[in-house]
Amino acid sequence: MVRKAIFGGTFDPIHNGHLNIAYESLERLNLDEIIFMPAGDPPHKSIKKITNATLRCEMVLMAIRHEKRFSLDYYEVREEGISYTYKTLLHFSKVQPEVQWHFITGADCLFYIDTWKNVKELLGLCTLVVFNRLGFSEDEIQVRKEYIEKKYNTKIIVLNTPFLEISSTNIRNRIAADKEVSYLLPSGVDNIIKELGLYRGINNVE
Ligand code: ATP
Ligand code: MG
Repeated sequence: MVRKAIFGGTFDPIHNGHLNIAYESLERLNLDEIIFMPAGDPPHKSIKKITNATLRCEMVLMAIRHEKRFSLDYYEVREEGISYTYKTLLHFSKVQPEVQWHFITGADCLFYIDTWKNVKELLGLCTLVVFNRLGFSEDEIQVRKEYIEKKYNTKIIVLNTPFLEISSTNIRNRIAADKEVSYLLPSGVDNIIKELGLYRGINNVE
């Protein structure tokens, strides 16, 4: 059976923490493909400022260019309004029903997945793959994993990797403060950011 994963995120910008969990997933779950799925631009009423999707996608394409099992899909970028993970998984499992689908997330998502739209249906369509992230202990993740598994009658895969605690928020803040970030970013992505002068404004702080 073909094994694929969708890796959703804002990717504003994509960083080495993302690539770390993507490569770990490829190897440890023996996946045939990981589809990076940048979230679409929020509806214009949203107060959260995000770099436009075209630029976020450009950075993702640069970051994944060396790995043929990594791809980018514009499905959520093209969708009108907020894109729900459930809808995305439903679309992909309809178009490619023969595939065993996974969805890759960091530990933070495990703690708010309860608020996602149609979680039960979503977890019926794919296996959730959760990575540890600084700020969450292994015990805490285990307890939460068991709670979600029981509540939704599903199986979740938890993978531990050495922490590469990088976040896009931290990168944006460092750039705004004129600090070095190239070592946190996939090769080529730092140049795009520099050339376009991204994240230099003061609207970054969350
Ligand atoms: P932001 O600070 O803007 O929220 P982020 O670094 O969390 O950005 P996202 O685009 O929100 O990046 O993340 C996409 C997915 O990758 C999420 O599931 C998130 O938990 C996971 N992720 C991001 N960074 C890491 C990391 N360093 N280690 C493990 N998982 C990560
Ligand atoms: Mg995040």
